[in-house]
Amino acid sequence: MKQRKLAWRIYLYFLISALFAISAVLTNTVYSMRQYHKNEVMKDLEIRARIVAEDVARLQLESERSKADDICKNIGRTSMTRITVILPDGKVIGDSDRDPSMMPNHGDREEVRKALGGATGYSIRYSETIHSALMYIALPIKKDGMLVAVIRASLPLTMVDWSINVAIRHILAGSIIVALLFALITFHLSKSVSRPLENIREVAYRLALGDLAARVVLPEDEETASLAKAINKMADQLSIRINTISKQNNEMEAVLSGMTDGVLTVDRNEHIMRINAAAGIMLGVSVDASRGRSMQEVIRNSDLLKFASDSLKATGIVETEVTLYLEQDRYLQLHGTALKDHAGANIGALIVINDITSIRKLEQVRRDFVANASHELKTPVTALKGCIETLEESANLHKDDIARFVSMMARHTIRLQSIIEDLLSLSEIEHDTSKGRILREQADLAVIVAKVADYHENQAAKKAIKIIYIQPAHPVLTDVNVALMEQAIGNLVDNAIKYGTEGKSIRLSIRRGNTHVSIDVADEWPGIEKKHLPRIFERFYRIDQARSRAMGGTGLGLSIVRHIALAHNGDVSVTSVYGQGSTFTITLPLPK
Ligand code: ADP
Repeated sequence: MKQRKLAWRIYLYFLISALFAISAVLTNTVYSMRQYHKNEVMKDLEIRARIVAEDVARLQLESERSKADDICKNIGRTSMTRITVILPDGKVIGDSDRDPSMMPNHGDREEVRKALGGATGYSIRYSETIHSALMYIALPIKKDGMLVAVIRASLPLTMVDWSINVAIRHILAGSIIVALLFALITFHLSKSVSRPLENIREVAYRLALGDLAARVVLPEDEETASLAKAINKMADQLSIRINTISKQNNEMEAVLSGMTDGVLTVDRNEHIMRINAAAGIMLGVSVDASRGRSMQEVIRNSDLLKFASDSLKATGIVETEVTLYLEQDRYLQLHGTALKDHAGANIGALIVINDITSIRKLEQVRRDFVANASHELKTPVTALKGCIETLEESANLHKDDIARFVSMMARHTIRLQSIIEDLLSLSEIEHDTSKGRILREQADLAVIVAKVADYHENQAAKKAIKIIYIQPAHPVLTDVNVALMEQAIGNLVDNAIKYGTEGKSIRLSIRRGNTHVSIDVADEWPGIEKKHLPRIFERFYRIDQARSRAMGGTGLGLSIVRHIALAHNGDVSVTSVYGQGSTFTITLPLPK
């Protein structure tokens, strides 16, 4: 339906009713005026006719016919009325306007017929001659009870029509003025009604667009004011509710984003509704890009997708573990439950994700460690057992052989001892670090490094290796456990000598930064292949088993270095070019 302006509608209704009222007034006025004027004209005509009748009655009509005509002409001229005297046979003997002898018999005229019958005759007829209606009145003139003549007076009704026309014109002019006035009033009236409504509409629109501060200014009239109050109240309620909802939402977002567990909610169609930062990281997806999209689009893991569908149908809590094959395998533990609305209808599912990769990795490391340690221990123990058995079984062994077996046993015992010492050392460092029991004191790193260099000088000299260390001029004070730090740097120097080539040099240096200090142990040969570098600090990891064993290595040296560095909130790293050399760097934080 086409919507019109309220002002127009009011004005239209008014105009129609005004038109009705004006036409009613007009019809009534015209009718009354016509009646009134006719009566007036009739009375007037009758008076004039009676005056003439008195004069004519005095005449001897048989002999004084021409006098009758004179009376008509005289009175007719002065009174501006047409007067006619008619004999009972209808013959006209006097007329104010015309020659009676030229006039036709008037006996058949309506008013004349009535007067001939003895009553006052009355009639209105349209005259072609003067183009106007004429009113006629005919009076019987009696003498001694005998009708002797009829006096007829007539007047055109042009005056009546004219005054009625004037009245109509005045009424119409008045009506136009009233209509214009009313249009003005209607305009103001409708404006005063529509302006507050317009204002209310605008506020409602702004509210709908989310501008919760929008309020209606209260209009003066009661009805719109109560509507405005209702709108304002609704806006108040709305903003309270929306504020509460957004507060709850923010709280929920804060809780979700602060959670270390991943949280994911999906709707019935498996579209992601919510996903927190932790879940995004665990699943390797962008949180913002995932919202509103289907699980199938975002997640490529079929186990996880199946779990989401299972959770939607679940009656209780469902649980599973999935592995995501990303850059590095990720192990996730999932708990899922269906989400219901207040009516108990299924609206989606909630999935809580725990990253158990580190637990799984730790388990793996433990398993590997037990296997490796057993393997490492097994070799010397088997060798010792073999020696002991040989000694037991062979009573007649030569002195030299016995000495050989004993020396072999001593070697394997030393090896066993060094493995056990390294393992104990590692576990001690780990244990103390976790309990915060690593005791530190302020010490000069420059002196510690110098001491390690001195200590290894003889060992290096045996391979014609030169240890080069230029001690810094100023002390490098740090909070360290001196014994552990000596052990760590010592292990690096020991490796450099063990795996280094004869005649080369080992350079020790200290680099001081703003917040950290680094100790570099650099050798010149042989370097380490790139593929080994990520694993070199793992326990029991050795590039060349046989060589390491031959050197008396346990595969735990670098692992101990790493643990010592970590116990000092530092770290160890290596850069190496195969065929050139390696630089191992221990980085430690400087005291603040
Ligand atoms: P190990 O007791 O066998 O020396 P480590 O943990 O100290 O065990 O070292 C692990 C492995 O890293 C060694 O077996 C050796 O192959 C390699 N490695 C360590 N330091 C060096 C070095 N400076 N140059 C070349 N290879 C090295």
